[in-house]
Amino acid sequence: MTSPNASHCDSTQLYFAERALLSSGWADNVLMTVQNGQFISIDVDSAPTTTSHVLSGPVLPTLANVHSHAFQRVMAGAAEVSLNPNDSFWSWRDLMYKVVQKLSPDDAYIIAKQLYIDMLKAGYTQVGEFHYLHHDRGGKHYGQICEMSNQIIAAANDSGLGLTLLPVLYSHSGFGGQAPNAGQARFINSTESYLELHQACEKALENQALHRLGICFHSLRAVTKPQIENVLQTLSKHRPIHIHIAEQQKEVQDSIAFSGQRPVEWLDNEIGLNERWCLVHATHLTAAERQAIAKKHAVAGLCPTTEANLGDGMFPGVAFEQEGGRWGIGSDSHVSLSIVEELRTYEYGQRLRDQQRNRLYRADQTSIGDNLFQQALLGGNQACDVSLGLNVGNRADFMVLDESHPFIAASEAKDLLNRWLFATNESLIKDVFVAGQHLIQNFRHQQEESSRLAFTQAIKKAIYHV
Ligand code: ZN
Repeated sequence: MTSPNASHCDSTQLYFAERALLSSGWADNVLMTVQNGQFISIDVDSAPTTTSHVLSGPVLPTLANVHSHAFQRVMAGAAEVSLNPNDSFWSWRDLMYKVVQKLSPDDAYIIAKQLYIDMLKAGYTQVGEFHYLHHDRGGKHYGQICEMSNQIIAAANDSGLGLTLLPVLYSHSGFGGQAPNAGQARFINSTESYLELHQACEKALENQALHRLGICFHSLRAVTKPQIENVLQTLSKHRPIHIHIAEQQKEVQDSIAFSGQRPVEWLDNEIGLNERWCLVHATHLTAAERQAIAKKHAVAGLCPTTEANLGDGMFPGVAFEQEGGRWGIGSDSHVSLSIVEELRTYEYGQRLRDQQRNRLYRADQTSIGDNLFQQALLGGNQACDVSLGLNVGNRADFMVLDESHPFIAASEAKDLLNRWLFATNESLIKDVFVAGQHLIQNFRHQQEESSRLAFTQAIKKAIYHV
C-alpha cells in the first residue's frame, strides 16, 4: 500500500471495473486512467489491459462529508442517559463543554486521526471540518494561533483524507453580541484574531493538493452582522461559507426576539444567500425560507443521524427536493459514520412524518437510492469545494463495494443503490481510493491498529478520567 503521506504518484495507473457509476450513469466494462491523482480518461465498453488493476466489485464515487466536529467523536454514545424529563440539545451541549475542557492538542490529533480513518472506511474522502476548538483550556491562544488547526491538518495528512478546513469565528453566546460563557472559552475569537487565524491556516494548507479552506461562522448566536460583513469583505470571495442555522426552535425564537426575523430569513435579507453558503441544520424553516435556500442555490448541510440523536426536528426534505434544492450530508457529532445510515435516516424520517413511502425523489430521478446518493454527491462537492465523481478531470477518488454480498452480486444496476442503502447493515465498502491511492484495502487502513489503541486511551482520559 502506498503511504498516505506520499505525494501523488506520477506514473499512470489503470483501473478496470465491470460496472461503475459514472457522472453520466451506470456503465459496463469501464477502464479508468489515472495520472497525478486525476482521472485523465474513462472508457466504457472497454476491456482490462495487461497492466490494469481489476477492481473486485461495483465502483462508486466517494462522498464529501459536509459537517464534522472531530473532537465530538470521543463522546459519541456517551450521552444517552436521561438527565431530566426535558433532555434536549442544550443538556447534550453541557456535556460536550465538559469534554472540551479535557482535550490537549495531542488528544485532538489522536481523535481526529481515528475519526478520519473511519470516514475513509465509510466512503467519505473529503471532510468539511467545522473547527472551533482553537485555544488552551484557559482560553489563551497557543504560541501558534493555528496550533489546534495544525492537529486537524496532520490527522488528515496521516490518514489520507481530503480536508476542507473551516476555521470558525465564534465570539458571543447569544444574539446581539452577548458575552461568551466560561464553557466557550476555548472557542472565542475577535474578528481580528479570527482573520489572523484564517491567514495562518491558509499558509499551513499551501501546496496541499487534497485540502481546501473555507470561511465559517459558528451561528447567528455567535457573531454579529458587522463581524460577518467584515470577514466576508476581507477574505477571498471564492471560498465556501458554512454556518449552523435554525437547528433548534429556541434558536429561532431567540432570533425573532432579537431582530424580528427568523435565522434564514435574517441571513438572506441582511447578508444575502448564494451558492457559497452551506446552511448546516437548516431544520426549522418557513416555506419562504426553504424556497430562498433552493432558489439561491445554497447547500442545506443535513446531518440526519446527529439531528435525530439530538432531537432537533425534521428538515422539510420533500418540498425542498421538488424545488430542486441542493443538500449534502454530514456526520457532525459522529454518532454514526455511515453513508447508508445517513441517507436511510433522512428518507425514513420523511416517511414516518408523512405516513407515505418513497419521499425523496425528483421528476427526473424516481429511484430513491439513486437520487439520495446523487444529491449527496453534488451537494457535498459544492459545500466542500471539491469535484468528486467518476468524471475526466476530477480527483481520482472512488470506492468498491463487496461483490461477495448477494444483493451486490445479483442486483441489476438500476437496483444496486437501493439494495445497498435500504437492505444492508454491515459495511460493504471494501476498497477506497483517494487521488488514485489505495487507502482502504479489503476493509482495512494500514494504520488502523495503532490508531485504535491511541484512540482507546483518549476515550478513557476524556470520558472515564482514567
Ligand atoms: Zn455542528
